[in-house]
Amino acid sequence: MAVKKKLNMRKRYEVLTRGMGWDTTYQPMDKVFPYDKFEGIKIKDWSGWEDPFRLTVDSYWKYQAEKEKKLYAIIDSFAQNNGHLNVSDGRYVNALKLFIQGVTPLEYGAHRHYAHLGRHFRGEGTRVACQMQSIDELRHCQTQLHTLSHYNKHFNGMHDPFHMFDRVWYLSVPKSYFEDAMTAGPFEFITSISFSFEYVLTNLLFVPFMSGAAYNGDMATVTFGFSAQSDEARHMTLGLEIIKFMVEQHEDNLPIIQGYIDKHFWRAYRVLALIAMMQDYMLPNSPMSWNEAWQIYYVENMGALFNDLSRYGLRMPKYSDVATAEAEHLSHQTWSDFYNFTHAASFHTWMPDDRKMDWLSEKYPNTFDKHYRPRFEQWREMEKAGERHYFKGLPQLCQTCQIPMFFTEVMSDPMKISRRVSMYKGDRYHTCSDGCKDIFENEPEKFIQAWLPVHQIFQGNCGGADLSDVLKYYHLNEGEDNMEYVGSPDHKRWQEWKGEDKQDETATG
Ligand code: FE
Ligand code: ZN
Repeated sequence: MAVKKKLNMRKRYEVLTRGMGWDTTYQPMDKVFPYDKFEGIKIKDWSGWEDPFRLTVDSYWKYQAEKEKKLYAIIDSFAQNNGHLNVSDGRYVNALKLFIQGVTPLEYGAHRHYAHLGRHFRGEGTRVACQMQSIDELRHCQTQLHTLSHYNKHFNGMHDPFHMFDRVWYLSVPKSYFEDAMTAGPFEFITSISFSFEYVLTNLLFVPFMSGAAYNGDMATVTFGFSAQSDEARHMTLGLEIIKFMVEQHEDNLPIIQGYIDKHFWRAYRVLALIAMMQDYMLPNSPMSWNEAWQIYYVENMGALFNDLSRYGLRMPKYSDVATAEAEHLSHQTWSDFYNFTHAASFHTWMPDDRKMDWLSEKYPNTFDKHYRPRFEQWREMEKAGERHYFKGLPQLCQTCQIPMFFTEVMSDPMKISRRVSMYKGDRYHTCSDGCKDIFENEPEKFIQAWLPVHQIFQGNCGGADLSDVLKYYHLNEGEDNMEYVGSPDHKRWQEWKGEDKQDETATG
């Protein structure tokens, strides 16, 4: 074979991707690719797709293998040196419990569905991008499981996250969001996950988690975060590229895409309520508050992005103003809810100590002292009197986001519960906000099918009528995984390791 000049990366990539595509002849293309037209998105020319990352499969494996080697070297040494003993406080690990229960299964869902997209878009460039993301997501799922398995040996509540993901009430929030996207068409899915989630909101998930891990001495989690970050950069580029590609292809696409952006911004944002409380309350040392993160990553950065996108006719997601007004309330309201329902959660809650209370006052000058400090001080008093309370009964859930109805009218009366009602075929449906109400009313046939954990318990589908029955059905060990942190087995073990068990118990935190 004659020696030829080596192709440059771009050419090589084109030959190895688009060059390998073909139009079918035995069967019509529409039968081979049945999904990418029914949403009404019109693509005139798939070759107009600009590949966001020109990575051939061989170089992809090489890069990823390098990252794996580094990650596994670090988590090995973390395990051998009992790295869990160096985190700021035993409470910190509850953030990891929420992560492995609520986020890791989403990585797996993303793996599955990007593989589906990798089969079903008829443009080769788009297919390759989705296939690579699919492999990335499987790797994220695996590296998270491997990293956090060390904590699972020493702390409760992390033993069966995938079983819990399909059943436990608060995990149906991320699950229903992701499955909403997975049961939509390919363009809606990719707008939802690649754009609304990965481009618009990803910093609000990963920055607090990873810098939170660094601030609390958890080098294992920091490392898997870094290992995922270069993948994330590609995913974000894909998110932006797909949006631009769709609007450039046909003017009819614009209103459909804006609708997807509005819907999935709100759905993804609602899931982030869990992150807001994790960031402000579960991290003993918080690098920044939820409100600060929201101002930087959403108001400023996404404000600039949508300024840029306005030349395509796109605007900021609907109800961005509500989310911004809510930023001063979100973490406090969510933590209050979990404090009341931890008897049915696979992690612990607690009341903030004085240091944390002061930090919250400083970070939330308009709302914390006025609305939340008095409530929390009262609950601390009750704890001291031996009356740590749990809410007896089951809450009303939002039909769309599935979160208990504890959000308030942040634009007008922040102490008034926000509740919206829709009638459909003679039945009444409740939603938590205008955002969730719009989503319900745009697709009522989809959302009346929602698997609402509270309704399922009442219908007898969750193991029985008693709390104990339900916890068994969740695979949650009563008295170990759930309830208050102070006095829990996790807490006691932590105190033994740290030699704190001989000191005053009330001084921790
Ligand atoms: Fe991922
Ligand atoms: Zn809702």
